[in-house]
Amino acid sequence: MVDGDEMSPRTRPDPTLCYLCGEPIGRVTASMDHVPPARFFPTALRPTLRRPLLTLRTHPACHSGWDREEEYFYNGLLPSVLDAPLGPSLAADFRASQRHPENRRLAETVRRQFERNPGGLHLPPGLLVQRFDGARLTAVAWKIVRGLFFEDNGRAGILPDATPRLVEFYGPHDQTAPAPVLAVMGEPSRGRFPQVLDYKVFTMDEPPTQAWDLLLWDRFVVFVLFHWPGRCRCADCAPRGRVG
Ligand SMILES: [Zn+2]
Ligand SMILES: [Zn+2]
Repeated sequence: MVDGDEMSPRTRPDPTLCYLCGEPIGRVTASMDHVPPARFFPTALRPTLRRPLLTLRTHPACHSGWDREEEYFYNGLLPSVLDAPLGPSLAADFRASQRHPENRRLAETVRRQFERNPGGLHLPPGLLVQRFDGARLTAVAWKIVRGLFFEDNGRAGILPDATPRLVEFYGPHDQTAPAPVLAVMGEPSRGRFPQVLDYKVFTMDEPPTQAWDLLLWDRFVVFVLFHWPGRCRCADCAPRGRVG
């Protein structure tokens, strides 16, 4: 177990680099990206926070398009977290957001994903199955991990988008999670605001791999496993396009 040795003391993320593409930000006016997205924090909670939200600088072009994906993620998970400690304040924000037609359309999209009889299955009364666009959800979770990894590892913390990885979701309706997910749960909490997003990290040596549990609103666990870029020399991670 080398976690902790690797990461402490925490180095400040390099403010001159865009964590999404790894390139210097240069002379453009940077976008300020909240990690996790600011909308994950209920309005009612904001005045009670003692520390600022984590923001990372990015190129505007690298940041563009993510707002919509993060909104989809938020709206998709929201129905399953309403009984969480922050559920009532998240629901209040959702009701307020419905005053905007754009948000109503998105809510309708999410609502249509709930099916009474998925694939002809007959569920007990009151039970619905929600079909997520998994690729969109995992893309947002992976972006959050990339931001937190950058925060924790400074200059060495660029996690390329193409890094081979596994991303799995476990929601409040899953009875249990596989052993590796539970094992990572035993690691120390690293979240700045664990009631919104906590995370735990387990580092393995051979091959150099990190396993993460993201814990969202105390209800969803996202398990993320990836080989450590720049350290892992396996066939998947070896630099491509170079021979010999
Ligand atoms: Zn960039
Ligand atoms: Zn590898």
